[in-house]
Amino acid sequence: MMLETRPLTANVTLKMHEFRKALPVLREQGWIPAVLQAEHEFLRLAGVGETLALRTHNALQAASPQDHPAFGDLFFRGADIYYCVSASSPMRASGPRGGALEVGLISKNPADADKRVRTFAAAVEMAVMTAVEAPRAQEMTFDWAPPKPDRSRIADLEAPGGKSELRFVAPKMGRELVRGAAALAEPLAREILDEISLAGFSRMRDVLAARQSKLDAAQEALDKLRRAGLITLEHLLECKKYGTPLTRLSDPDKLQTPEVGALVCPSCGGHFLDESLCEGFSVSDAGKRLARKAHWLRTLIMYKLAELGVPLESMLQNVSESGEDVDIAVEFLGRFWTFEVKQGDFTAGDVVGFNNRCARHRPQKAFVVSTAKVTPDAKRLLGEAATGDPPVCLEGLTKAGEALRAEVYAASLGYACGRLQVIEDITGYDVARVAAARFEEEAPVRRHSIEPPQPPDPEKQSASSTAKLRDRPIPQKQ
Ligand SMILES: [Zn+2]
Repeated sequence: MMLETRPLTANVTLKMHEFRKALPVLREQGWIPAVLQAEHEFLRLAGVGETLALRTHNALQAASPQDHPAFGDLFFRGADIYYCVSASSPMRASGPRGGALEVGLISKNPADADKRVRTFAAAVEMAVMTAVEAPRAQEMTFDWAPPKPDRSRIADLEAPGGKSELRFVAPKMGRELVRGAAALAEPLAREILDEISLAGFSRMRDVLAARQSKLDAAQEALDKLRRAGLITLEHLLECKKYGTPLTRLSDPDKLQTPEVGALVCPSCGGHFLDESLCEGFSVSDAGKRLARKAHWLRTLIMYKLAELGVPLESMLQNVSESGEDVDIAVEFLGRFWTFEVKQGDFTAGDVVGFNNRCARHRPQKAFVVSTAKVTPDAKRLLGEAATGDPPVCLEGLTKAGEALRAEVYAASLGYACGRLQVIEDITGYDVARVAAARFEEEAPVRRHSIEPPQPPDPEKQSASSTAKLRDRPIPQKQ
């Protein structure tokens, strides 16, 4: 699962000494401020009083280059991290609306997250009100509210009136649509749908006869397509004697009526009622829609993203009939991603257009999704053109799900670390690494080895996860 970060900001300008007076009040309530606690331990070991100022003026200035006081603390509670920071630092990933105080919860557990962060906000508020002088307390209004998600990039795409005929709209994930897309994720199902689509109508026995070696799989694919509403069962009346097709019936009971049953076969002269009926399929409107321009693949990717916690309102899909552009755009936790999907191999011929679109949209990450593979030539060209992060190639749908999960997790961790930047600036601690280690899904085994040290391994897990942490949200446009 991704990390949930739930920030709340209040339009309260707190002075640093007021914040430091509020921390002990929080501690009494069971919220242990980790930074303050570490300082106290340091001073205790030094044998000097708790009130001694530990930081030089220079260190504080460095952390907050402008007039804003930067302060903050962390609270490790249960499996979660809570934080309280001055949010006015220019280092903040996305500043609150003029407000200056931010509290937040970082957790792997989304259940009750809003309630939990509200509880913490109430504790901070109470502590501040207790710590400051009465006249100051009267000035403060703690109007806690979550910051609005930034949609500026996708809003630009969505805005009508562009010079091209491109159209981007927010996805709708109806159950039917998702079921249809899931059915088409199966290569055999796509192959069969294509075949029926091309023929207009296919007899079931022909579809199956062409797949003798995998009859069960073919039967299953037909069932799936039909249950998903992508193909429609119809009946074909054939001449019993010569096998000539006579008519297609969506309702075979019609044959019992005299108007149809009494019709005469032009081949053998018998009545329709006595001819033989066989089952077959045609492609439904829903099937045609999903098959066109790999719509099913876009739907599937968006569905996977939604499952991973990316809100639907953070995504746009390209529904233009003509004109080439990215297929999906996502703006999420301060990141802007674009996706291009390809049914079949993504080849060198696809790269030029892709690169042009990357240059135009400047996503922080561009994804290539191929149902088959990204050819080595294409990969080389993609790598050469990339100015920032190289594009992420998702080859094959099974791998795509896993890779997307890792990307969304990394983005959610990067966002959380961005919100803790103030604390990192003040303390000099690698707070991002601490958060990563605390939330690591499968903590790597770190044994304190008594064996001689091994030569450094460039493929080490720690190196790659550190690299990911640098992948932080970019500061917002001012
Ligand atoms: Zn006949």
